[in-house]
Amino acid sequence: MPLSDSSDPIPLSALQHAVYCLRQAALIHIERVWADNRFTAEGHVLHAVADKGGSRRARGLRRVMALPLASKRLNLAGTADMVEFHPIAGGGETPYPVEYKRGKPKLHHADEVQLCAQALCLEEMTGAAVPEGALFYAETKRRLAVPFDAELRHLTEETAAAMAEIVANGVTPPPTTRRERCRACSLLEQCRPDTVARPVRAWRARMVERLAAETAAP
Ligand code: SF4
Repeated sequence: MPLSDSSDPIPLSALQHAVYCLRQAALIHIERVWADNRFTAEGHVLHAVADKGGSRRARGLRRVMALPLASKRLNLAGTADMVEFHPIAGGGETPYPVEYKRGKPKLHHADEVQLCAQALCLEEMTGAAVPEGALFYAETKRRLAVPFDAELRHLTEETAAAMAEIVANGVTPPPTTRRERCRACSLLEQCRPDTVARPVRAWRARMVERLAAETAAP
């Protein structure tokens, strides 16, 4: 759902985009620009399987597919691919979010932040601690356990705050300086980072020249 004002909840998926590139998140969630490339198309197919919903019991734990999540505190909303509810000895359950991803684990923490945001929603909704979740990657066909430590929680909350600020200001950020990310970006054609970056570079050059002139002045 596109964001039109700061009262709209920020989609959990926007945090994943925001960690990858704040401009990408703004283009998708505020300007409503979207383009499928091979990577995102594969992702849609993968999520279509999880999006069927329903719940079932297996190996002593409860699994809920396509579970709606929200956090009032962070103004977030979205859907978890799957949440397992692990029984606790003596009563109660520990939620354990599992997110399906295409490809394999990546160096940036975009997938981990999206999963951690789900955990923060689950903690607010259930009152239970959510210490860990998992990412399931289609290419490796393996689960990667993700502990929700203080560092990841901090990065997730910072990303939510950055996204909220962009929505409140309504200004799409400049291209990422991590240009290697542009090559795999589904919005490369619409974003045109080189064209957009040129005025920024020219502006910076003018500022440097002006500062140099001011410093040299008697
Ligand atoms: S092309 Fe690069 S700068 Fe533009 S949205 Fe994608 S990652 Fe960001």
